[in-house]
Amino acid sequence: MKYADLAEIYKKLDVTTKRLEMIEILIELFELTPKEKMRSVIYLTSGKICADYIGLELGFADKMVIKAIAKAVGKPGNDVTKLFHKTGDLGEVAETLIGKTGQQQLGAFFGASGSDQERQLTVDEVWETLHKIAKTEGKGSSTKKTNYLLGVFSKASPLEAKYITRTVLTQLRLGVKDLTIIEALSRKYGEGKESRVIIEHAYNVTSDIGEIGERLAKEGIEAIKRIDIVVGRPIRMMSAQRMGTAEEILEKLGGKCALEFKYDGERVQAHVNKDEITLYSRNLNEITDMYPDVKGALKRSLKSKKAIVEGEITAWDPETEQLKPFQILMSRKRKYDIDKAMEKIPVKLFLFDILYKDGESLLKKSYPERRQILESLVNDDDVIVLSSREIVNTAEGFEGYFEKAIESGCEGIMAKDIRKETQYQAGNRGFLWIKHKFDYTSTFADSYDFVVVGGFYGKGRRKGTLGTLLMAAFNPEENRFETVCKLGSGFTDEDLANITEALMSIKLDKKPKDVVSNLNADVWVIPSLVYEVQGADLSASPVHTCALGEIKKDAGIAIRFPRFIRYREDKGPEIATTTNEIIDAYKRQRLLKKQDNT
Ligand code: ATP
Repeated sequence: MKYADLAEIYKKLDVTTKRLEMIEILIELFELTPKEKMRSVIYLTSGKICADYIGLELGFADKMVIKAIAKAVGKPGNDVTKLFHKTGDLGEVAETLIGKTGQQQLGAFFGASGSDQERQLTVDEVWETLHKIAKTEGKGSSTKKTNYLLGVFSKASPLEAKYITRTVLTQLRLGVKDLTIIEALSRKYGEGKESRVIIEHAYNVTSDIGEIGERLAKEGIEAIKRIDIVVGRPIRMMSAQRMGTAEEILEKLGGKCALEFKYDGERVQAHVNKDEITLYSRNLNEITDMYPDVKGALKRSLKSKKAIVEGEITAWDPETEQLKPFQILMSRKRKYDIDKAMEKIPVKLFLFDILYKDGESLLKKSYPERRQILESLVNDDDVIVLSSREIVNTAEGFEGYFEKAIESGCEGIMAKDIRKETQYQAGNRGFLWIKHKFDYTSTFADSYDFVVVGGFYGKGRRKGTLGTLLMAAFNPEENRFETVCKLGSGFTDEDLANITEALMSIKLDKKPKDVVSNLNADVWVIPSLVYEVQGADLSASPVHTCALGEIKKDAGIAIRFPRFIRYREDKGPEIATTTNEIIDAYKRQRLLKKQDNT
């Protein structure tokens, strides 16, 4: 397959934001793609080189790309840098310069002389080069990486150079999300609506859209039906909805439910295969190396040889026997000197679910059945503990348990449905779990996880830093980020310096196409960082675009008096608070206000 064909598809995807058009273009792409290339084509189109959980990174910096472009076209690096400063997009710089000047000689140097046919780049070549780049480490690696890139540039057309550049910088940003790919795959290879459910389930248990695409193309939907859990490979995690009062929650859950403490730490999915133990974070990143104590404890405490369990790792003070706040746990998260950190900040893992045991997937079992299996599996241990749990059927019982949770240092409780159909909903945020936090009870204050899409320069003391951030909710139906507030308080000076540095490293030259905003930020960034924000209130807003037209014509919903609470490094932009959650919160708040007035 020629890379030029892929580049032409990217050009079409680049100019559309409409989900249906994207699906059509993706179907066209699948028709062009040989079966055995589906995996690489799907990863490349998502701007990746492997499934996220593998963690293989390209590690390319702007200045390395500038060097490669300069060498490729025989110009001084300064000229390329100047052009970069003018356009702000190295992809465009590569498109302007590469494939035009001096390319012939460069091609000859890299052995690419010959007919146009021979000079044509293939998807395989680009794919293999990207993998070589990612695997190159150690001394002299940036020169080696730059030379690999130069090798592909020697054969690239301007359009190809643009997309290769964006890919190595992990800035392809065609706006193609996994769910859009799933929709396109099910239309191309499926047999009706049911296929989508089957494909989505397979995706949720493998967390690997490339593999699903390849197997679908090669073996059809029947093979996808057979896809099941593999220990060692993360399962997309189940999430919770939020609701206000005890009465509301009890009613939603049929008058009776299980309550568990909502521990304030880091969610972990532990894959145990005899002595091999892998821990995954909420984002499905591997975090095993950060918790050797948890790894050791799981070995001691679990009675099963092969299992997948979930829980929350929380910092713990053994002297006072108290839970410690989330921030303390975060200060332990580091790659180096982990032994010292482990001693200084001990942890506990509170287990609350089990997804697999000794050859059997437990996803379809009800939550009470899973809990029973979990309880029978865990030996008491210093580190591994079962989450605290109680069944309640009255608002008083609910409130009493909630108070107990807050007194114990938790951020609230999780109410869990205990009726029959309560299977583990991988990758889904439903009402089988409902979170109830302290903020929801006292005022209208609530906390959300929003994505930073841009920033505004500060004045006075904040001059030179991005003192105000433009925050957005994620709209999965429309595949885009919609603004909800300008965030300018709750930061320390140190936070602001760190945030400015982080944002400048993901700066874009213009508003990304999957961001909907009426405001013009001073700096636009790749929507990738998630911060927790507390707001006092929700209101209709003519400025913000979240849920535009949903509650009022020509108005969106905004968060009033937002405050920065914390960084959510464990969350990616696609598991941030959604537009629908904001609409629900707005409606809930209106209802409460009405009740207050009567
Ligand atoms: P939040 O931002 O409120 O922590 P979240 O968006 O990370 O939530 P949700 O699924 O909405 O994730 O809320 C559930 C989270 O609460 C889980 O991801 C997990 O980290 C944490 N948690 C703590 N205790 C429990 C428990 N007993 N059962 C389930 N989840 C728990």
